[in-house]
Amino acid sequence: MSRIAYVNGRYVPHHAAGVHVEDRGYQFADGVYEVFTIERGRLVDVPAHHNRLMRSLGELGIASPMAPGALDVILHEVVRRNRLQRGIVYLQVTRGVSPRNHVFPDDVEPSVVVTARRGGRPSSENQDNGVTVITVPDIRWGRCDIKSVSLLPNILAKQAAREANAYEAWQVDSDGMVTEGASSNAWIVDTDGNLVTRPLANAILGGITRLVLKQLAEEQGIRVIERPFSVAEAMAAREAFVTSATSFVTPVVQIDDRVIANGKPGSTTTRLITLYGNHVRNAQLTKT
Ligand code: PMP
Repeated sequence: MSRIAYVNGRYVPHHAAGVHVEDRGYQFADGVYEVFTIERGRLVDVPAHHNRLMRSLGELGIASPMAPGALDVILHEVVRRNRLQRGIVYLQVTRGVSPRNHVFPDDVEPSVVVTARRGGRPSSENQDNGVTVITVPDIRWGRCDIKSVSLLPNILAKQAAREANAYEAWQVDSDGMVTEGASSNAWIVDTDGNLVTRPLANAILGGITRLVLKQLAEEQGIRVIERPFSVAEAMAAREAFVTSATSFVTPVVQIDDRVIANGKPGSTTTRLITLYGNHVRNAQLTKT
């Protein structure tokens, strides 16, 4: 069965899906995106993704292309047409197509693209054994809270991880504090068993998995402390892990050359993997 994408009002074969060469996403990375997890043919945590999308659009002064309800119809239609049960949906909204000029164009319609694919799940090997992360300087701009398609520093960091046979790169600010992964949020477990993750601010993307996991942990009486932590603290931590829509909760057992604790996923992380897995399977999954 061939894959179907949505491009500006049309459902088209994936191989023929394209936007104009003067789309501002293509020329300026002037756009935002969301990645949704699909479980049983449905999108997970839809309201939270919509909130983040609307916020990203608002911060960049890009018009909302349509109401969340209308967007839901398209997202589900792409899932349906691709007969996806498990996978991810990618949604991208750019400022639109206009002759190249840095200044915002007047009267431009935002471009909307939706694609979907199978996979996008953490491997059981990574979840069972944990992964290695490397550390890299955070060279990004001052608005990492916006889920912009401008991801050059992130892809360079991820490529560095790949070349070091690592799963992820943790970006480190000029004070030696971890901001977040190239495509995930970074967490540690302190000696008292509390979860520690960087507070929401311009330095990190507010991950939906981060948001949901924080709630799930707190419901279980696990304390979540939002504060920056250093690379040295992470290396000496009891446990570490990353979260994202495609990694879920993935244990980190090594940072650069330093093995964390006994080099195996810890009990808190293992508990969180189960909690989050149950959330994906059982959450109030929105379907339009
Ligand atoms: N930080 C960055 C830089 C990311 O790219 C991502 C994934 N898009 C995340 C964090 C995690 O966000 P989410 O949990 O919404 O996938």
